[in-house]
Amino acid sequence: MIDLSFAKGQVWAVMGLGKSGLMAARALAAAGADVRAWDDTADRRAAAEAVPGVHLVDLTADGLEGAVALVLSPGIPHTHPKPHPAAAAAKALGVPIVGDVELLLRALPQGAGARRIVAITGTNGKSTTTALIGHILTNAGVAVEVGGNLGRPALDFNDPGPGGVIVLELSSYQLEITPSLAPDVAVWLNLSPDHIERHGNLAGYIAAKRRMFTKQSSTALAVVGVDDAPSESVAEDLRQLGRRVLEISGTWHVVGGVYGSNGVLVDGRTGRPETILELSSAPALPGPHNAQNAAAAYAACIGLKIERAAIISGIRSFPGLAHRQERVAEAGPVTYVNDSKATNADAAARALSCY
Ligand code: ADP
Repeated sequence: MIDLSFAKGQVWAVMGLGKSGLMAARALAAAGADVRAWDDTADRRAAAEAVPGVHLVDLTADGLEGAVALVLSPGIPHTHPKPHPAAAAAKALGVPIVGDVELLLRALPQGAGARRIVAITGTNGKSTTTALIGHILTNAGVAVEVGGNLGRPALDFNDPGPGGVIVLELSSYQLEITPSLAPDVAVWLNLSPDHIERHGNLAGYIAAKRRMFTKQSSTALAVVGVDDAPSESVAEDLRQLGRRVLEISGTWHVVGGVYGSNGVLVDGRTGRPETILELSSAPALPGPHNAQNAAAAYAACIGLKIERAAIISGIRSFPGLAHRQERVAEAGPVTYVNDSKATNADAAARALSCY
């Protein structure tokens, strides 16, 4: 668990006691904060009540007075379709709304010995790319913690120590409530319409995702997939700002970038494109969408100065994630593939186009 001792003696409110919210309440209480927690569901409130130092207070009614911030579960709306009453109360009182990843970032040491942060976003492929980067780094012998939107909540991490890497999958909902985010490597995979109900319109969704880059320094790296028009404009805008951009693609030859094309992964950064590997040698990453994920992971690890051979062996040995192109059975000539994580039209189209 991450040490949040900066919060000692402070009042913190936590709304939403699912996996990440409960962990936030636990970590804050362990650090000696005065924690006021609430959830609309009685069962979840009961789970929090058992945690020493966590006090159940109905944050939709009162309880936010004097709080440093409201830690809001990313699944709870604070703007569209309408703010949850606890979020509305926080706004009325001027209490900032943050997420659990913000707490992690505030807890990490800065300056010399700082941990390197890799953050991944995009409409599709986030979990695969996050897990793939984590796998490559682990294989390369780097101390790494992997999670966020995928799997482990950020505050459940152990500090990987100086030189260590924290790999975070971030959804648009999380990006809206993580104001301190300044990743050493930011990965933007792709963008297609999704989650409009939470962001009001497509522009709102894109704006939330773009927060990935707001505080990046000019020495940090932005890895940007350029296989769709909104993402191409992101790359262009970052270049105009003088940021370090490495473009990637799962389908076409990107001049100066990293791309999967005709079944091979190519590093074209030097102007003399070099073949990195045959994508067929990475059985858990079939199809052009996974070529995009592999290109992004390769580019991110190059940004972290990982040896090319270690990256290649990590991509090849990646075991894949459940529910994404997962071969679950064979019966005679029929293979059964579970891709139930394809929860929007673009993902489903990509999944089917593998066959
Ligand atoms: P996310 O975490 O963004 O939901 P996942 O890695 O869990 O993405 O993949 C979910 C589904 O999206 C996969 O099962 C696959 O069908 C599809 N998918 C994966 N990567 C991509 C990609 N780069 N572009 C489009 N679709 C993808």
